[in-house]
Amino acid sequence: MVPVRSSPILIPGLKTALTDTAPAPRLVVDLDIIRANYRRLQALAPGSETAAVVKANAYGLGAEQVVPALAEAGCRQFFVAHTSEGREAREALAERSGEIFVFNGFWPAEIDTLRTAGLIPVINDLGQLQQLREHAPDLPCAIHFDTGMNRLGLDARETRAVLDGNLLDGLDVRQIMSHLACADEAGHALNQQQLDRFTAIRNALPGLPASLANSAGVLLGTDYQFDVTRPGLALYGGAPAPGADFDVCVRIEAPVLQVRTLQPGDNVGYGASWTAGRSIRTATIAAGYADGILRACGEGGMARLNGQPVPILGRVSMDLISVDLSDYQGEVHPGDYVHVLGADLDALADHAGTISYELLVRLGLRFNRVYTG
Ligand SMILES: *Cc1c(COP(=O)(O)O)cnc(C)c1O
Repeated sequence: MVPVRSSPILIPGLKTALTDTAPAPRLVVDLDIIRANYRRLQALAPGSETAAVVKANAYGLGAEQVVPALAEAGCRQFFVAHTSEGREAREALAERSGEIFVFNGFWPAEIDTLRTAGLIPVINDLGQLQQLREHAPDLPCAIHFDTGMNRLGLDARETRAVLDGNLLDGLDVRQIMSHLACADEAGHALNQQQLDRFTAIRNALPGLPASLANSAGVLLGTDYQFDVTRPGLALYGGAPAPGADFDVCVRIEAPVLQVRTLQPGDNVGYGASWTAGRSIRTATIAAGYADGILRACGEGGMARLNGQPVPILGRVSMDLISVDLSDYQGEVHPGDYVHVLGADLDALADHAGTISYELLVRLGLRFNRVYTG
């Protein structure tokens, strides 16, 4: 009988390390950066109150953590798209005070939720104004006047009716607002037109707090800032307009699963869309389009390892991405973390043919989310 081997077969020279858990991608959100961006926006509009737009789960970053962080930085007004998001924001605020406005209109079916969560619906047409009078005349509200975007808000005819007929009398109107269509293009003629129209409305309704500017609108200067500003993107570090730079509060950290050496002629990934022209090192990392690194980020999209560029090679898969280690100085091991987004957020969005807003709100749900600050 041959004795049973009690030790495993060892491959000479191969070192392995035991870890408790497999390395998993994480999403790191720095709440200090969000607070600092809030204070910067407040400093850019010192005569106005800076509110915060936290719709879509605070641009994908987590309303539960982001809303209280903003409150700590002094924010007292929050804007969401849906009533359900408003309820989440109210829960996140817990004992802290704060007005929460719901952009998407007044719907009588939501009256109970609006009351219990203390939410303020934004009225978008005369029908909603009428329903508010009929069903909940005491409920605080805001009024959105459309001044040229033709998306939401009272149109020019309805606006005239409100101003000429004193249709807001007796209602608890907390704010009047409008939204800029082209604030990211400072020279666009529509900016001035919208400003003129909104100024006329504001002058006809003295005493009501007025708000017009989103992040890019704040950068258009004092004329656009009115009583309240409504930035979203800049709070999180996206560039609202060319040249603006706020610090990006979020990065993906994706672990290296394998390091490979490719020979000339070897392909990478689906479609064999990338072929090595010479011998190179690559790393396969555990993140993909399921995590929000859009397929369009492939082939050339920027990732970093210890700050050094390691561009994406070939196509982005659902769960995996290959990166190019050709120019990387140093050793790379499984479990090392490659960073995506961070300061590269806007450049990566550009590379993918989209905007930083879309990259943020598409961040995946399976990350281990880590909040710092
Ligand atoms: C989303 C939104 C904002 C915030 O816009 P940013 O460009 O992210 O600053 C402000 N106002 C309205 C009406 C919005 O829909």
